[in-house]
Amino acid sequence: MSTGFVAARSRGLLHCGCCGLVLQPAAGAGAPRCPRCDTELHALTPRSVQRTTAFLLTAVALYVPANLLPVMSTNTFLGTESHTLVGGILELWHSGSWELALIVFIASIAVPLLKVAALGLLAWTAHRRSTWRQRDRAALYRLVETVGHWSMLDVFVVVLLVGMVRFGVVANVEAEAGLLAFGGVVVATMLASSAFDPRLIWPEQDDRG
Ligand SMILES: [Zn+2]
Repeated sequence: MSTGFVAARSRGLLHCGCCGLVLQPAAGAGAPRCPRCDTELHALTPRSVQRTTAFLLTAVALYVPANLLPVMSTNTFLGTESHTLVGGILELWHSGSWELALIVFIASIAVPLLKVAALGLLAWTAHRRSTWRQRDRAALYRLVETVGHWSMLDVFVVVLLVGMVRFGVVANVEAEAGLLAFGGVVVATMLASSAFDPRLIWPEQDDRG
């Protein structure tokens, strides 16, 4: 354990995440509430690792249909065509818009996969109560949070770039089931990251994730 630091929960103190009050909880049944702002207080987010893992598994499960099912179909005078994510990226690539192909690839495939991998690593090491590279893991958590602020951008990037740019105004673009699954992946990773309690990176004696 690092020296020179004291975690509130190792002293039996609770910190109110809403108003910042630090207090000694009175003994009693149930979760104590903040006497100032009435927020429910927890030393750690309850069942953080389990909930993070459940949302991650949901994201992985939805990632399959998001990639196998068409995300959109286009109606032109040439007929109706369905496009999967990878198919759309390849079409962009072959039509010479490699910059757009790269943007769609990063937003729709690379970022969700890296987010799931990063949160999986954080949840797994928290479950193991690992003290391995704690500052790096904290930095990784901050990175996931920062990227998370832009989460829904993934969906917009896919819709706008693959649809509008590639096929222009002559085409009629419609969303398909794959896009719904892809939106589900984005939402599930957002929930996974909000369920993870970063205090678990610094385990105390009697912590339960
Ligand atoms: Zn409070």
